[in-house]
Amino acid sequence: MADWQTFSDRINNVTPSATLAVDSKAKAMKASGVDVIGFGAGEPDFPTPADVVDAAVKACNDPRNYKYTPTAGLPELREAIAAKVLRDSGYEVTADQVVVTNGGKQAVYESFQVLLNDGDEVIIPTPFWTSYPEAVKLAGGKPVEVFAGADRGFEPDIAAIEAARTERTKAIIITSPNNPTGAVWSRETIRAIGEWAVEHHVWVISDEIYEHLNYDGAKTAYVGVEVPECRDQLLVLNGVAKTYAMPGWRVGWMVAPAPVAASVAKLQGHLSSNVSNVPQRAALAAVAGSLDEVHMMREAFDARRKAIVAALNDIPGVHCPTPTGAFYAFPDVTGLLGKPLGENGTVVNTSSELAAALLDEAHVAAVPGEAFGAPGYLRFSYALADDQLAEGMRRFRRWVG
Ligand code: GLU
Repeated sequence: MADWQTFSDRINNVTPSATLAVDSKAKAMKASGVDVIGFGAGEPDFPTPADVVDAAVKACNDPRNYKYTPTAGLPELREAIAAKVLRDSGYEVTADQVVVTNGGKQAVYESFQVLLNDGDEVIIPTPFWTSYPEAVKLAGGKPVEVFAGADRGFEPDIAAIEAARTERTKAIIITSPNNPTGAVWSRETIRAIGEWAVEHHVWVISDEIYEHLNYDGAKTAYVGVEVPECRDQLLVLNGVAKTYAMPGWRVGWMVAPAPVAASVAKLQGHLSSNVSNVPQRAALAAVAGSLDEVHMMREAFDARRKAIVAALNDIPGVHCPTPTGAFYAFPDVTGLLGKPLGENGTVVNTSSELAAALLDEAHVAAVPGEAFGAPGYLRFSYALADDQLAEGMRRFRRWVG
């Protein structure tokens, strides 16, 4: 490639999204006739609730939705999101603190674009959702991983976080319920992180997209509730994808101090303008409606969670802690490395090679731990139909032998 043809360092330094890569590969194999069981992307298999779809159909016929609307979101939706924060988290925010984004992912990206200067550091409790470090790098920042393994229930250690702090530490991410581990961090941990952030003047990015998916009596703790003093430095990220089975509608949001929200809207004004109006109207029906459907989905996820954890632990060499949130199981698979697997006696040395062999030979798609800063693990999304889940586990078991 000639010099003039090279791309920016910024894009060359970014790793592709592994969750989406596994999902696309599995879907492409399916389209070509291979019967793949997909535990890849965290994508609820339920249909979007009918009243939400009806609101979208109605919106298609309403010419108001054919025009540009305010960049930060439809005023009614911003109001509804502010009301939702009061309903679910119990504290007041105003509509001017809300920016509606193209999925939660855009809110992640915009947070760092608005907060970081080159070289600023972001502490990322690890295992992390795969897109966080890339969004930090795209903003010129430096991701700082602080690992907590299965031995501590994937619960971050505040002493390790403090040890990672430098004078460049600008922000920290909280994700609870967690992707990829399924852990719900304790109220004490959330409080400790919030208090630490206030003490050291660090922005808090709290990704609460799995807030309604918790099991075994685990409760989502909100940092804005545990540490009210942190609200002036808190960016809450959320969206309709997981709560209302709406991943493809691409509606997320950020709730932040008003000057942050205004800066995010300024950025979005040059990036993507308003989120498509029809999905915004659908999101309004979802957010302003009840949580009944998510409670039903949670019951179904709970049964699948128990089934997948039992099935994984039944496979020699696999150890799966019991997750109490989201819809991911995150087993330790180091016991399978370096041993012959499957009919061909394939030997793999990393979880990444394991995921590739599992997909190619057993037609089971899972995301390798490497994508989440945690080699030695595999992530299984159990947001798929019960019979698919059972068949996928049977194949994994049979393949291991
Ligand atoms: N957040 C989901 C996941 O982790 C959806 C895919 C993605 O955007 O990464 O699988």
